[in-house]
Amino acid sequence: MDIYTIDNQEHLSVLRNKSVKVKNIDQKLADYTERMIRAIRGIGIGLAAPQTGRNECFFVCRLDRMEPMVFINPEITATSEDIASYDEGCLSIPGMYGEVKRPAAIEVQAWNLKGRPFRMEADGLLATCIQHELDHLKGLLFIDHLSERKRAKLLKKYEKSLRTG
Ligand SMILES: [Zn+2]
Repeated sequence: MDIYTIDNQEHLSVLRNKSVKVKNIDQKLADYTERMIRAIRGIGIGLAAPQTGRNECFFVCRLDRMEPMVFINPEITATSEDIASYDEGCLSIPGMYGEVKRPAAIEVQAWNLKGRPFRMEADGLLATCIQHELDHLKGLLFIDHLSERKRAKLLKKYEKSLRTG
């Protein structure tokens, strides 16, 4: 599975696009999310559909000691006032990290692969993962949460890392 990165203009335009809602929750989608879950094994904790070239509203989360999870047409229905800060990374900007502040706990509503709606509360790393992946569906990247100065610095560093390999 090809993971889209921001240094490729074609990829970038997909990553910056707003995704559309999933219409059919079927076996094809289940197989696809299974491939996404396999693709990030050992390299990441989440992957959103636009990162694989599809501007559709779904993503997967795969945290240690937790069953992989699939979120289809997700929506955050509540956020805590408490803020948590994590050093986030993204498979679309490989090797780069930046401190992002987000609500520490959230309530999310989505559909599962059986086509049933569910609602769950999440905190800690899972809450961060869900918010990061949901951003991807809106065409947002974690670097958008950084200050302009930090973002410029990170992008410069990323470009350099591409040149030097
Ligand atoms: Zn990401």
